[in-house]
Amino acid sequence: MSRIAYVNGRYLAHHAATVSIEDRGYQFGDGVYEVVPIHRGAFIDADLHLARLARSLRELEIPTPMNDTALRNVLMMVVRRNRVREGIVYLQITRGVARRDHAFPARVIPSMVVTARHGPPLPTDIDGWAASAITTPDIRWGRCDIKSVNLLPNVLAKQQARRAGVYEAILIGPDDQVMEGSSTNVWIVDHEGVLRTRRLDHHILPGCTRAALATLLAENAIPFRDDGFDLATLRRAREVFLTSATSLVKPITAIDGQPIGNGAVGSITAQLFGLFVAHARAQGEQHARAQTEQHARAQGDQHARAKAEQEAA
Ligand code: PMP
Repeated sequence: MSRIAYVNGRYLAHHAATVSIEDRGYQFGDGVYEVVPIHRGAFIDADLHLARLARSLRELEIPTPMNDTALRNVLMMVVRRNRVREGIVYLQITRGVARRDHAFPARVIPSMVVTARHGPPLPTDIDGWAASAITTPDIRWGRCDIKSVNLLPNVLAKQQARRAGVYEAILIGPDDQVMEGSSTNVWIVDHEGVLRTRRLDHHILPGCTRAALATLLAENAIPFRDDGFDLATLRRAREVFLTSATSLVKPITAIDGQPIGNGAVGSITAQLFGLFVAHARAQGEQHARAQTEQHARAQGDQHARAKAEQEAA
C-alpha cells in the first residue's frame, strides 16, 4: 500500500507530495511541528499535543489553519489512510509561501503538511528498551519552548550520539546545568533517591510526555522536584530516564561510557515506565471501545432504515 500525505487540503501519494521552494519553512525554518504517537489507531495525549501546537503558532504569530476539530479529522484521516495502528502522525505548519524576505509577508496562507508512519508496538521488555547517552554543550537559541522546525543544533547533537553508537545526546547549558535531550526531556532519581527534572522556561521544550507523566505522578502520589540539576548530579544519579512521544519512558543506563548507578534499569524508572505504558494502553482501549460502539450504532441505524423502508413498501 502506498503512503498518503496531506498537503494544504489535498491527500496525495507520499512520493508526489511537495511544497513550494519559496515556502518559509524551507527558506527560514519559519514553522512549527508536532509528533503525536499512535497506539491501536488512537492518538496518545492528543489534547496536550494540540495545546502545545496552538501555543507554538501563537508565539510565532502564525494563524491557525483550521479549528481543533478539523485538525483532528485531518490527522485521523492521514492515520487511517496509511493504516497506521502503531506509529506516529507528524504535523508541520509553516508561515506559508512568499517572496523571500526575512520579515513576515503581508498576506500569506500557512502551509500544512501531515504524514503518518508505522512504528513498533508499545514496548513490554524494559531492559530491551534501555539505552545509553552522551553529553554535549547546548548550542541552541533562547526560545527552545517553541516547537519550531529549526532543529539544526538538535540534528548535530543527535548525529554526535549516532556516531558514538548511543541513543541520545543530553544537552548541557550554562553552569553545567542539564537542559534536555536533543529530542527528549531528562529525568533522574538523584543519589539521595529524589525524582527530579528541569523546570519549564524558554530554554527547553515542554514535553507532552513530561506533562502526562507529571499528571500520573500526582495521581499516584509520587513526589518530584522540577528545580533542575547539574552534570555532576546527573553522573551521580541512581537512575536516569528520558521522556518523549517516541521514547515514552526510556531508561538510560550509561552516560559518556560510564554506568549510571549499577548499570541496570532502576526500580523507579521501571515503575514509571509501567505507569506510562498503561496510560497509553488505556487510551488505545478507549478508542477501540468507542469505535465498536460507533460501528454498532451505524449497523443499528442501517437495520432501522431497512425495516422502515420495508414497512413503507
Ligand atoms: N525536548 C525536545 C527538544 C524534543 O524535540 C522533544 C520531542 N518533541 C521533547 C523534548 C519531548 O517532547 P514530547 O514528550 O512532547 O515528545
